[in-house]
This record gives sequence, structure tokens and C-alpha cells, in this order.
Amino acid sequence: MSKIIRDGHMHSHYCPHGTKDEFYKYIDKALENGLEEITFTEHLALPEGFINKKIIEESAPSIEEIEKYFEELKEIKNLYKDKIKINIGVEVDYIEGLEEKTIEILNRFGNIIEDSILSVHFLKLEDRYHCLDYSIEDFKELIELLGGIDKIYDKYFETLLKSIKVDLGKFKPKRIGHPTLVRIFNLQYPFEYKNKKLLDEVVKAIKDRGYEIDYNTAGLRKHYCGEVYPSGYFFELAEKYKVKMVYGSDSHTASDVGRDF
Ligand SMILES: [Zn+2]
Ligand SMILES: [Zn+2]
Repeated sequence: MSKIIRDGHMHSHYCPHGTKDEFYKYIDKALENGLEEITFTEHLALPEGFINKKIIEESAPSIEEIEKYFEELKEIKNLYKDKIKINIGVEVDYIEGLEEKTIEILNRFGNIIEDSILSVHFLKLEDRYHCLDYSIEDFKELIELLGGIDKIYDKYFETLLKSIKVDLGKFKPKRIGHPTLVRIFNLQYPFEYKNKKLLDEVVKAIKDRGYEIDYNTAGLRKHYCGEVYPSGYFFELAEKYKVKMVYGSDSHTASDVGRDF
């Protein structure tokens, strides 16, 4: 495989669940690893009130903070322009049922965004939202609520498919984030998903739209995961359909930039 020179998924000190490492630390690490292009994809601010306040505040910066993020990143991009290509980006949450609010937030910043990722972290069950990767305790609760591990996989991939097909306006991201995130706790809850038809539909939908996949190495560092997203059959399909995959470290700390590439 040719040398990987781009990290397409990095967070920053604006992330409430990240570290305080400043932009220059991430960039220094990228240069040290021989990367030539990076995208900071901070979590875009979330709509208010759809899930408890604590989760909202921990998941993403507020609107005010994300404004500062863009401002600071614009300066940093310019400062390093002769050394490395820096893209200004975001990781956008697909939240089923909140498409209008998401479009509103995206449209507000669309003109600044150069590269972005669309991710599913939240699942909607009846009228309530649940965060998929918040904690292993919550994951266990989800299994019980849905009545089986296979049902979480179903729900996740159904939601992922919706995210790919949904209209999120002209600034909708074109790269699908960590598309097997549902396996984040697979070492604790081992499971081999059998609905290959649904996976096929998901990957085809990505291909048909000319979207890309975030080939995300963060799972390797997660205690209960130990694998890249996507892995297994999903990954085979991505190769089969020749979907473009962009490496992403999903780093929330400078030392993880370009890790496991
Ligand atoms: Zn994050
Ligand atoms: Zn994510």
C-alpha cells in the first residue's frame, strides 16, 4: 500500500471530551509523521434539547465555541500554508428527525467548511434518543431496550442508511464517519452481523452518491473494540464497490494524529 499522507479526521481543543492540546501540537505531530494534508473535523454544534443536557454538552462544542473554532482555524491554516495543507472541517451528526435543525446549523457555517464527515452517534427509539458510543453501561441498556444485540446492529445500519440518503442541504458532508461504530464494544459484546443485504444496500448507497468512507483507526485504541471502522464484511464491500476511503485518526489528542496508518 502506498504511503498515507493525509489524516482526514482530527478534533481539537474545542472538543469538550477531548484534550487541551492546541492546534499547533496536532500539526507538529502531522508534520513529524510526514503527512501532507489534514482536516480538522471538530464536532459541529448540536441542536438543543433532544437528549439530556450533559450528553449534549459533552458531545460537541456550543455554537459560540464552534464560531471561535472556525476563526482560530482560519488563522492557523494561513500560518502553516507553506508547510502543510490544512482543511477546515466538521464532523456532523445525523440525528433522525432533526434534519431541519441540522440543515440550519450547517447552512450557517457552510461557506467556511472545506471538508466534512457525517456520522451516526445517536439512535432514535420511539421518541427518545440514545447515544451509541457514550458508555458501555448505556450500550448494555440499549441491548436490553431493543431486545438483543442484533437489534442494535439493525437500528444502527438502518439509521446509517437514512443518513446517507437524507437531504441535509447543499453543505451535506460527503464522507461517512466510522461506518461500523456499532462495533465499539464488540470485545465485550461479540457479535457477527448476518444481515448482509442491508450492509450491501448501505455501501451501494454510499457508492451511488459518490460519497467516501472515513477509514477510522480510533477503534484500535478503544479498550473494547480493537478494530478499524469499517471492518469485516462492510470493509470487503467497500473494496468490492471501490468506494474511496480516507484515513482518519479521529484524534482527540495530538499524539494520536496519523496513528495506526
Ligand atoms: Zn469526539
Ligand atoms: Zn465520531
